[in-house]
Amino acid sequence: MSAQKETLGFQTEVKQLLKLMIHSLYSNKEIFLRELVSNASDAADKLRFEGLNNAALFESDPELKIRISVDSDAKTITIADNGIGMSRDEVIANIGTIAKSGTKAFFEQLSGDAKKDANLIGQFGVGFYSAFIVADKVTLTTRRAGAAASEGVRWESAGEGDFTLEQVEKAGRGTEIVLHLKEGNEEFLNDWSLKRIVRTYSDHISIPIEMKKGNSYGENGEIIVSDDFETVNEASALWARSKNDITEEQYKEFYKHVAHDFTDPLAWSHARVEGRQEYTELLYIPSRAPFDMWDRDRKQGVKLYVRRVFIMEDSNKLMPQYLRFVRGVIDSNDLPLNVSREILQESKDIDAIRAGCVKKVLGLLDDLAANQPEKYADFGKEFGQVLKEGVGEDFGNKDRIAKLLRFVSTASEGEVPDVSVAD
Ligand code: ADP
Repeated sequence: MSAQKETLGFQTEVKQLLKLMIHSLYSNKEIFLRELVSNASDAADKLRFEGLNNAALFESDPELKIRISVDSDAKTITIADNGIGMSRDEVIANIGTIAKSGTKAFFEQLSGDAKKDANLIGQFGVGFYSAFIVADKVTLTTRRAGAAASEGVRWESAGEGDFTLEQVEKAGRGTEIVLHLKEGNEEFLNDWSLKRIVRTYSDHISIPIEMKKGNSYGENGEIIVSDDFETVNEASALWARSKNDITEEQYKEFYKHVAHDFTDPLAWSHARVEGRQEYTELLYIPSRAPFDMWDRDRKQGVKLYVRRVFIMEDSNKLMPQYLRFVRGVIDSNDLPLNVSREILQESKDIDAIRAGCVKKVLGLLDDLAANQPEKYADFGKEFGQVLKEGVGEDFGNKDRIAKLLRFVSTASEGEVPDVSVAD
């Protein structure tokens, strides 16, 4: 195997993103952990899905988990997962380039005003690069599930102009990220404060997040250092829990994870539906339009799970175009686990689920319009234009959608459209 180390340059947009992030997010540093844990959890979801048709990908390590550990002497935090991992090509494509469509246009909107830009960056989502808020060097070592141990890849960067890549040996599949903390970030070397951050932001993650057990005291007051790990989060799918067991904060953090958004959602609907189709939906209305809402290639949407196993993320089949801003999860009890994109396109069951979910979203909007007019006005500003498409697109619900539309009346001078056609 070649041990050659190569140096590659970041895409221009990545450089811009890194700079912007470090300047605008330093007051909210701890979110780096949420972002990295969120990626690790997505990687586990992807493995579970690919593993449905290829059990060998689990190798001899079927328990998906995330481990966070701290080395206070070396001043590092390590976040390791045994999810899908990445091949060399995937590392180059994912970490070092921003593949999202519309990225260039997005960066052209930046003003140089830190406050305004900080706001924009939330819309864009920062993900992996948030590591550089607290670290001045990041070492990512990964191996794709199913690849040979010699096919490991090490990526390393100081978050400036470039990164290095090297082929390494990695026994376990998945991704390990070592953050070499910048001066002044020692607070994150404290297990206790890291556990608090995990509980605050990542409690909803459905696989275990493990950390070293704290030290305990023996009978004679001696310190017993434990090498055992304990699970720090709730580690069950949030949407499958009972509503009464979920706090408002947990709903909001879960939203940030599924939607890759930064800001709190405007509203959500969570229900278990029984009948011909049995499913659970947890659907959110964001408080702001994503930067790529008008982009046809945009991928984000609602995630489909079957009995807790992630199947796919799809904006077309699960939600109509005019509700493309809706984010969240639909978890079916009845669909087959090996459901493919092709089967989904044809599936009457999916049509029924989708129709049910559309009704839920419209119901949520009816409720906002009737009971929280200010929030509804915010919704109108962000998504009114998109919702309007529904009158033409969704014949069955067209009257209901029309009632939800607000137009600026000739009489009102204000910016907020506030007159409905039903008035
Ligand atoms: P986003 O998660 O919004 O796509 P990120 O910058 O956080 O953006 O990550 C970019 C991509 O890198 C991810 O979409 C994923 O493909 C890959 N990635 C990041 N972290 C991991 C990980 N722990 N395991 C596997 N792939 C990862």
